[in-house]
Amino acid sequence: MSKQIRGNVAIDGPAGAGKSTVARRLASRLDYLYIDTGAMYRALTWKALQQGVDLGDERALKELADTTDIFLKSDEQHQPLVYCEGLNITAAIRTPLVSRHVSLVAEKESVRRRLVELQRQMAASNRVVMDGRDIGTYVLPDAPFKFFLTASLTERARRRCLEIYNTCRPAELEQVKAEINQRDIQDSQRQFAPLKPAPDAVIIDSSQMTIEEVVARLEQIIYERSGY
Ligand code: C5P
Repeated sequence: MSKQIRGNVAIDGPAGAGKSTVARRLASRLDYLYIDTGAMYRALTWKALQQGVDLGDERALKELADTTDIFLKSDEQHQPLVYCEGLNITAAIRTPLVSRHVSLVAEKESVRRRLVELQRQMAASNRVVMDGRDIGTYVLPDAPFKFFLTASLTERARRRCLEIYNTCRPAELEQVKAEINQRDIQDSQRQFAPLKPAPDAVIIDSSQMTIEEVVARLEQIIYERSGY
């Protein structure tokens, strides 16, 4: 059945809403390619931090974005891998240090223009599930399937906590909550391509849903809209 589906899927939403897990599973169900655009901003942030680039210096960051080779691929278990200049940085881009600084890099218009150019090239097959913050509004405005995935701040922090530590002590939960809230504020308030739902996106609040339920809901909408 998946063969008949045509067109890209855009999934946006705030930090910790479960976008990447949902997007990865949906891509595998549709036999689409999964593209994690957040990983690209994280990779560039990781490199900037490594090189001691001033994150307030847009020109330096643009130069870095123009000259850095970022490559996304999947391993045999369909787990996404991120490479920078041939180096596997999949784990390195998930550190709290990168998470704390990534929004500063991502708010720069010239950085975004460069990464969006690459993202659009990756989506040229018309068979990608792409997740991020501005996919439905800016990267792929013509995508036929757009979703905005959200959940309450507490639930998103709880999920992130489980992901990071596999436990969830109250103090850590409060800290994670503050961090993702701060990142959401920065991402929503930036001038260029901020985090917001596209007017034609289906908004899904997953606070009370399992990952499998969310994936099933998205798949159902995609098939219905495709005339099945
Ligand atoms: O998706 P993830 O949480 O890994 O994204 C990390 C950061 O990358 C976001 O907080 C945001 O600053 C930036 N980002 C973005 N636009 C995207 C994807 C991610 O600005 N399309």
